[in-house]
Amino acid sequence: MNIKANTNFGNIKESYLFSEIGKRLRAYQAENPDKRLIRMGIGDVTLPLPSVVVEAMGKAVLEMGNKETFRGYPPESGYAFLKDAIVEHYKSFGVDISPASVFVSDGAKSDLGNFVDILGDNEIMIPDPVYPVYVDSNLMSGRDIFLLSGSISNGFLPLPPEDLTGGEPNVIYLCSPNNPTGAVYDRHALKLWVDHARLTGSLIIFDAAYEAFVTGDLPHSIYEIEGAKECAVEINSFSKFAGFTGVRCGWTVVPEGLMAGDMDLNKLWNRRQSTKFNGVSYPVQRAAEAALSPEGMKQCVQNIEYYKENARILAKVLDEKGVKYTGGTNSPYIWLQCPNGMGSWEFFDYLLNNVQIAGTPGEGFGRSGEGYFRLTAFGSREDTLEAAKRLSELL
Ligand code: PLP
Repeated sequence: MNIKANTNFGNIKESYLFSEIGKRLRAYQAENPDKRLIRMGIGDVTLPLPSVVVEAMGKAVLEMGNKETFRGYPPESGYAFLKDAIVEHYKSFGVDISPASVFVSDGAKSDLGNFVDILGDNEIMIPDPVYPVYVDSNLMSGRDIFLLSGSISNGFLPLPPEDLTGGEPNVIYLCSPNNPTGAVYDRHALKLWVDHARLTGSLIIFDAAYEAFVTGDLPHSIYEIEGAKECAVEINSFSKFAGFTGVRCGWTVVPEGLMAGDMDLNKLWNRRQSTKFNGVSYPVQRAAEAALSPEGMKQCVQNIEYYKENARILAKVLDEKGVKYTGGTNSPYIWLQCPNGMGSWEFFDYLLNNVQIAGTPGEGFGRSGEGYFRLTAFGSREDTLEAAKRLSELL
């Protein structure tokens, strides 16, 4: 063919992380069939959907099979019942948003990847290490990326680099609680980011996919910070909060009147979504609504507490052994510094060969992840306790 492909795809690194992990695990199991492997690398939930969610989805499916209650295409930006439930959810942490600012979608990954469609040729600022979708979707559209290094000294929570940006506007990605580091920005740090964005005319894309793991006085939403509605969009998901990784539902908040120059981003996102997206299915939206109901919240929080207890069990071993880490309290992730100066892959092999625990090497999440390692708390209690015992004997 003589057509041109998008050559920007040539700038993206092959996503070899999980295939390389899979390869090493398969090879190990083939050589050691009698050893029981504990997988602590997955970022996927394992507990089933809350019963109230299943009931709502089932009821909605039956409605779809009945002539009187059947529904065709959903509204592109979501049914009013779900948008209203999301608005109420924000009220629970003191944030007022309008239903017109809420766009329901099939998940946070799609929205994060698609949002570049409505932005022009900006310089992109992304903390490193982080969820790889921000970097890859911007590389795919040919954008220049500036990485902000996270390290143990800044708690993997980089702040605005005033001296480096020279006041230029950027599109800034923030993820809190962070994947992979589990680190959470406090109010003071988020205010520094919001002030920086307003001063420089920058846009913050705030990924709150792990918001439900936050407790205490830490912010759940960037809109808890004054002025954020003038400089930020927020992307959230039912995946980790309600176990929807296989169901698919999320949302993006684009405040009404949020302007990029003379272009209204709420209107652009609406235009983009109504052109390229046909909405989320009715049963899924009813299921999501049920997750946000008082009974749904109770059941979702129970599941989140289960994962958080797993995280506490793992963190306790690291505390006892003097291993440095972030996360483990308001997050399902524990991000640890590989002991004795080991590299990420070296530590991966060390854990696999000695105690048959599989985690994720930090360098897969960016350059600043070299020498770090991610363990997740999404496994079963039984596996987590066994992993803690094995780690305690090894470290
Ligand atoms: N954002 C972060 C930080 C994530 O870790 C993930 C999934 O692991 C997502 C977004 C994707 O969420 P969803 O399942 O809604 O696409």
